[in-house]
Amino acid sequence: MGAGTDGLNAFEKVAGCGTHGLRSVGVEVVQVNVGLRCNQRCSHCHVEASPERTETMDWPTMEQVVTVARQTGCKFVDITGGAPEMNPNLARFIAELHAAGIAVQVRTNFTALLESGNEDLPLFFRQNEVRLVGSMPCYLEENVDAQRGAGTHGRSIEAIRRLNALGYGHRPDLVLNLVYNPVGPQLPPRQDQLESDYRRELSRRHGVVFTHLLTITNMPLGRFRTHLRSVNMEREYMDLLVRSFNKETLDGLMCRRQISIGWDGTLYDCDFNVALGMPVDHGVSCNLSDFDLSALAHRQIVTGDHCFGCTAGCGSSCGGALVESVLGV
Ligand code: SF4
Ligand code: SF4
Repeated sequence: MGAGTDGLNAFEKVAGCGTHGLRSVGVEVVQVNVGLRCNQRCSHCHVEASPERTETMDWPTMEQVVTVARQTGCKFVDITGGAPEMNPNLARFIAELHAAGIAVQVRTNFTALLESGNEDLPLFFRQNEVRLVGSMPCYLEENVDAQRGAGTHGRSIEAIRRLNALGYGHRPDLVLNLVYNPVGPQLPPRQDQLESDYRRELSRRHGVVFTHLLTITNMPLGRFRTHLRSVNMEREYMDLLVRSFNKETLDGLMCRRQISIGWDGTLYDCDFNVALGMPVDHGVSCNLSDFDLSALAHRQIVTGDHCFGCTAGCGSSCGGALVESVLGV
């Protein structure tokens, strides 16, 4: 689905964006992808991270990120990867952000916290008031291990136990959110209902607690797209996403209030566009060194067919569902 003669692509037409496309309304969150290296190789990974990837954000780029984050007055910096713990400068970066009075959120896959050399990170996170978001696509071992590798469920539970012991998930100021994504080509179930199931089952089976569950739709990108193609389901999945378009999600789309910075300092509208190599455009520079807050705050967003993944059903963002529930989806 490319752009039509009116210059609008299929997503912009369905979303009713008009001639000016989808536009941002501010920069409230700065998301930073500190590298594509990961100790896992999950079957649905949209950035295709793995232990073999070498792309890593260097320290001078991190220093620039601290400067622009300060300039934005953002609510928080959201650190993602790969596994952020695989970047050797992660702790230094967090300490610098904390010292600048900027709140920090780290997206962890949990198992990276158990890797050699990372044992002290949980305590360091607590000392620097880091909010944590961790992947846990199911409370059942077989589903987690099928998607994320053998033994991942058990090691993730062990990491959650260590975080719980420090107060994460127990204390309101030590946020530990879990992320669910479907194992196959379906939309996530209702976030509030699934959260109750997770709370009951994780407590009963493993005695662990968490703050909230966030449901995220699998994007038709990276390894998940390769998988869809291999089972001849790509068209069907895209049809599901387009058919489930919900205009109520448009206001909350994360790209409207955040900017994403890739490991090499390139600016993107979101981490999905990072995966696609589609930097910010439409007259705005994508170089971190040219960071122009007023232009970026009201930019035209670079969209494509993958955007239907954010607007399907209850909607999806790195912060979970965008609307509470949608009847009939
Ligand atoms: S989904 Fe997350 S944990 Fe899995 S390979 Fe990708 S970055 Fe690593
Ligand atoms: S994929 Fe990115 S640009 Fe597209 S709607 Fe989602 S957040 Fe916005």
